[in-house]
Amino acid sequence: MRMINCNSVILNFFIIFVAMKFVTILRHFLGLLYPNLCAACGRALIGKEYVCCMSCLYHLPRTGYWKKPDNPLEQLFWGRVPVEHACALFFFEKGSRYRKLLHRLKYNGRPEIGVVLGRELGRELKNTLHYQCVNTIIPVPLHPKRQRRRGYNQSERIAAGIAQVTGWEVNNSALVRMRFTETQTHKSRQERWENVSEAFALKDVATLTGRHVLLVDDVLTTGATLEACILQLKKAPDCKISVATLACTKKTAPPVSDRPSLPAPAYSDRRP
Ligand SMILES: [Zn+2]
Repeated sequence: MRMINCNSVILNFFIIFVAMKFVTILRHFLGLLYPNLCAACGRALIGKEYVCCMSCLYHLPRTGYWKKPDNPLEQLFWGRVPVEHACALFFFEKGSRYRKLLHRLKYNGRPEIGVVLGRELGRELKNTLHYQCVNTIIPVPLHPKRQRRRGYNQSERIAAGIAQVTGWEVNNSALVRMRFTETQTHKSRQERWENVSEAFALKDVATLTGRHVLLVDDVLTTGATLEACILQLKKAPDCKISVATLACTKKTAPPVSDRPSLPAPAYSDRRP
């Protein structure tokens, strides 16, 4: 009787082992037929790679601005709106594989790109002293009409990725987009400001009182959209605001080594 039990246990283990091998082989076979491709370079993903291959993540042209107070992105807001800290995860240039990544996130129905890159950004912020007092993440809102068309808000997906790593809460409802604005892509600085200056409204002042908000967007260009959001967030008493985006261009914010060093302005100039 004991021998029969022993044989049946061995048989069960054998069946499970064969089934697992079969699933692995089937997955590799399906992977050959329908490869999971890197959203940046298009190479087939292998092993535990997800959305982006190891090589593209390794070579991501990180700005390092989260470690540099008074960096060019913070300077972009000086004299406009009060910002505690500002950074972008990486630089992108026209035609680069990282430009494609951003394009696919925004226009090709690939919200998971936002989560994966949001996690990368979150890891950097979590390990940086300047961002330790952040406690609320607010993604730049889309107008409901645009969100319905796109199926998701890319900034919300980035915020979700940051939150997974840092544990900071995400508030998707306090700040809302009231006006349906045209795309900002081909507009000048002045046109962008006219387009978005009154597009946002703060719906919930109480939950943001005394908070340190991290305002999150996909790309920082002129800063007009973020500035319009910050003007609304400042209506909450004692609310501090920092900014983090996935990307910026070198034109918007040249790498620190490429710039002549600027003297930091007086406190009152920096925080109007
Ligand atoms: Zn790649």
